Amino acid sequence: MDIPKQYDPKQAELHHYERWEAAGYFAPEINKDPKAPVFTIVIPPPNVTGSLHMGHALQHTIMDVMTRHKRMSGYRTLWLPGMDHAGISTQLMVTRELKKEGKTRQDLGREKFVERVWQWKADSGGQITVQMRREGASVDWSREKFTMNEDLSRVVREVFVRLYDDRMIYRGNRIVNWCPQDQTVLSDLEVDKAPQAGKLYYLQYPVKGSDRRVTVATTRPETMLGDTAVAVNPNDERFRDLVGATVELPLTHREIPVIADEYVDMEFGTGAVKITPAHDPNDYEMGLRHNLPQVVVIDQFAKMTADAGERFAGLDRYKAREKVIEEFEQLELLERVVDYEFSISRCERCKTVIEPLISTQWFMRMDQLRDLALDLMSQKHKPQFVPEVPYERIYTNWLENLRDWTISRQLWWGHQIPAWYTKDGEVVVAKSEAEAREKAGTSELTQDQDVLDTWFSSALWPFSTLGWPNETEDLKTYYPSSVLVTARDIIFLWVSRMVMMGAKFMGTEPFDDVFITGTILDSQGQRMSKTKMNGVDPIDVFDKYGVDATRLTLAQVGTTDIRWNEKQVESYRNFANKIWNAARFCLLNSEGASVNSNLLDYSGTALSLCHSIHDRWIVSRLNRTAVDVNQSLVGYQFHEAVQTLYHFFWDDFCDWYIELSKSDVTEEETSERRAIARSRLITVLEQALRLLHPFMPYITEELWLRLPGVGKQSLHPAYEHAEPTIMLAAYPAGDSSLIDEQAEWEMQATIDLISRVRNIRSEMNVKPSERVRVLIGAPDERLRNVYEAATPQISRLVRASEVSIHDRLEAPRASARAILVGGAELAVPLEGLIDFEQERQRLRREREKLNAEATKLETQLQNPSFVERAPADRVAEVRDRIADIAQRTAQLQQTIENLQ
Ligand SMILES: [Zn+2]
Repeated sequence: MDIPKQYDPKQAELHHYERWEAAGYFAPEINKDPKAPVFTIVIPPPNVTGSLHMGHALQHTIMDVMTRHKRMSGYRTLWLPGMDHAGISTQLMVTRELKKEGKTRQDLGREKFVERVWQWKADSGGQITVQMRREGASVDWSREKFTMNEDLSRVVREVFVRLYDDRMIYRGNRIVNWCPQDQTVLSDLEVDKAPQAGKLYYLQYPVKGSDRRVTVATTRPETMLGDTAVAVNPNDERFRDLVGATVELPLTHREIPVIADEYVDMEFGTGAVKITPAHDPNDYEMGLRHNLPQVVVIDQFAKMTADAGERFAGLDRYKAREKVIEEFEQLELLERVVDYEFSISRCERCKTVIEPLISTQWFMRMDQLRDLALDLMSQKHKPQFVPEVPYERIYTNWLENLRDWTISRQLWWGHQIPAWYTKDGEVVVAKSEAEAREKAGTSELTQDQDVLDTWFSSALWPFSTLGWPNETEDLKTYYPSSVLVTARDIIFLWVSRMVMMGAKFMGTEPFDDVFITGTILDSQGQRMSKTKMNGVDPIDVFDKYGVDATRLTLAQVGTTDIRWNEKQVESYRNFANKIWNAARFCLLNSEGASVNSNLLDYSGTALSLCHSIHDRWIVSRLNRTAVDVNQSLVGYQFHEAVQTLYHFFWDDFCDWYIELSKSDVTEEETSERRAIARSRLITVLEQALRLLHPFMPYITEELWLRLPGVGKQSLHPAYEHAEPTIMLAAYPAGDSSLIDEQAEWEMQATIDLISRVRNIRSEMNVKPSERVRVLIGAPDERLRNVYEAATPQISRLVRASEVSIHDRLEAPRASARAILVGGAELAVPLEGLIDFEQERQRLRREREKLNAEATKLETQLQNPSFVERAPADRVAEVRDRIADIAQRTAQLQQTIENLQ
C-alpha cells in the first residue's frame, strides 16, 4: 500500500473539492430517494465586496457540518449560496475607484455608473466564493443567487407593488436620519448611538409684553433658529402662567407660542424646552400634535439655509453654533454653559454625525407585519432560537417596539424604486415601466430616483432564492428552510424582517430554527475589526494548519464567545497528523484485509469466530460514539460532538485499540485470524472517518478512498449510483443494542491497570528495557477474571515479567503502589530496579524547583500592577501554571513516600 509518510492538507484541499463540485455531489438532485426527508439552509449572503473573515469561516463551518451530516444521513440536502449587492458599501467602493481616476459618479451619470459597478463585480467582486471553495463548503453552486440579478429584482418589485397596494408601503414627509457625508437617509439600525461629552447651553428667550425671560437648555443651539414653540409640562407649577404666552425668538424676527405638552420632562434643564420640529425627531412628533410650523434651517449638506437668516445662511452647522452663542452672549441672553454628556448618533459607515431632517421618503408600515411575526412566536413558537435565552426575548421585545421602516435610499446602486411620476406629480407604482404607462395612461413618466434599502431584498432571501412568486418545485420542496445560522448583531436588521416577510408572503415562518453563533474575539478579548487591524485571516490559518484543523477549532465555538487561540488549531493539526499516522499503520498492515461491516456486528459469524475483549469493547465504543455524536449534532451541541470524536479517535482507537490489536495485525504468518484482525481494524477506521467527515472533509476523503474494500456499496442507498466518495457514505447512526456495558467496564479496568503501571514506570524512572513484576490484589472475583483474561495483553503493554493476581495484595515494602477501580490494589516491587536513594534525591530536587517556581509566580500575582497591566491571557496562564505545579507536587510527595 502506497501512502505518503506525511499528510499534505493543501494537496487534498485542491483536489477533492473540484472533484466533488464537478460531480454534482453538492446538489440535492444527487439524492435519488423520492421519500428522502429534506434539509435546507440558505446562506446569509455575504456582501459582493466582502472577503472571508473569521465570522464567515465560523458560520460556514457550522452550516457545512450540519449539511454534510444530513446529506450522509440520507436527507435531500440543499445549502443555497449567494451574494448581497450591498448598496452603500459597493457604491462607495466604486466611487473611490473613480476618484483615483479623477472622476465623480456624477461625471458618469447614473446609467454609466451602474454599468461600471457591474463591471467591477465581474472583475473583482465575489472573491468570497473562491474562498468558500477552499473552506470545503458543500453549497449547491448551481443555485447560486445574487440579489441584483433579474430574477431576484423581479421579486423585489412584486413585493413592493403588493405591499403598496395593501397600503403597507407609503411615501411621506417624515423626519429621518440623514448622513450629510453619504447623502442618504439611513434606517434607525444603520445609526450608531454613543454617549459623548458635550455642552448644555442655557438660552434666554424674552417673553413678549413683560420683563420676564424663559430659559431653555439645549445641546444644539444652532437649531434655535428653527424653533417654532417653547414647551412646558402642563403639571409644572413654575410655568403654569406662561402657557399661552408669546416669546420673542432672539436672532430672528419671529414670535413663537409657549405650549403645554405632557411629553416635556420637568427634570431636564429648566423644565421649559425649545421645540424645533424640522430638526429633532421628538420635536417633530410634538409639532404634529400641536400643528406647529416646520422651519428648515439646516440643509442636506449640514449647512444653514436661507430660512436661518442672512447672517447664518451657508454656514456649516458647527460654525453656526459658535455664531449663535456669540450673539446670545452679546445680547446678554446666554445664561450659562455646563459640561454635559449626551447620546449622539453617527452614521454607522462613515461616522459623520447624523442630521435629523424632514424629507420625502418611502416607508414600510410595520404594525401588521410585526403582529404576524409575534403570532408565529406565540402560536407556533417559531422560529426557535438556539440558544433560546436570551435571543427569543431580545427578538420579541424589539418587535413589540417596532417603528415604521424607512426603505428608500439616495443611492444609484440598488433596486430602483418601482414608482413613476406623471408630469402632474401623480404617483404610479408598477412592476415595470410598461405597466406603469398602462396604469397612468401616458408614457411621459419619470421613475423615482431612489433605490431600496439593501435589507429590503435580504428580507425576501428565503423565498426569492427559490423562485417565488412562481410555485416552483424548489419553493415547494425547500421552504421553509431547516435552520438559519447567523450572528446576533443582525437579529433585527435581517432575521426579524425575514420572518415578517415570510409570514406575509408565504404564510409561514422562513426557517424552523435560528442558530446564533458566538463571536471570535482576538487573543486579548477585543472584537476583531479592520480599523484595529487585529483580525485573523482565515486563509492564513488554512495555509498554516490546514482547513480541517481550522474547521474543528471553529465548530466547537458554538454559541459562546471565545478568544482566538492558535494553539488550539495547532493541536487539531496534530490530531489530523495522528489520524494520518493511525490510518497509515492500518494501511501498511492491510494485505489480505478489506473493509467489512459484518465484522462489527455481534450477530455476524465472523465476530464469534475470534473476538477478544478489546474487539467487543471497540464495537461498543464506536456505537456509543456514533449515538452521542448524532444526538449532539441534532441538538446543535457542536462542541460536545467534537470532543466525543476527538476522544474516541485519539484515546480509544489510536492509544488502545491499535495497541491491543497490534500483535494480531502484525503477525508474520498469513492466517484467517490475522486477516480478520486486519479487516476489523480497518473497518473501525472506516467508520471513524465517516463520523469525522462533516468536520474534517478533506483528510477523511483522502484516507477513505485508499481503504481496501470501499466502493459504491459503501454509499448511502440514496446515492448508490454515484462514484465512491466518503461524503455520500452513510453516516453511522450507532446501534444502541451494540453498546456493551460489560465489555466497556472490563476494558476500562484493564486500561486503568495498564495506565497505572505505565505511570509508575515513568514516575520511578524505570529503564524501558527492565521488566517489572505486577502484583494485584482484587477482592472482587469478576475483576480478577478480567485481569486474568487480559494477562497476555497487560504483560506485553507494560513489559511485565510476571502478573500475579490474588484477592488480597501482598507486596514487599519497597514497592510503588496504586489504587485501581473496584477497590483493587496494585503494587510494583522496585527492589533491584532502581537506586532508591538516588531516586529520592532526584524527586526532592524536582519538588524544590517547582516550589521555587510557584513562589515566584505567586509573588507576581500579588503584584497589582502585573494583574492590571498584563494581558488577560497571560494572567490566566500564570494561574493555570500554579495549579499544575500544585498537582505535580502532590504527586511527587506520594512517590517519595512510596520510596521510604
Ligand atoms: Zn455616512
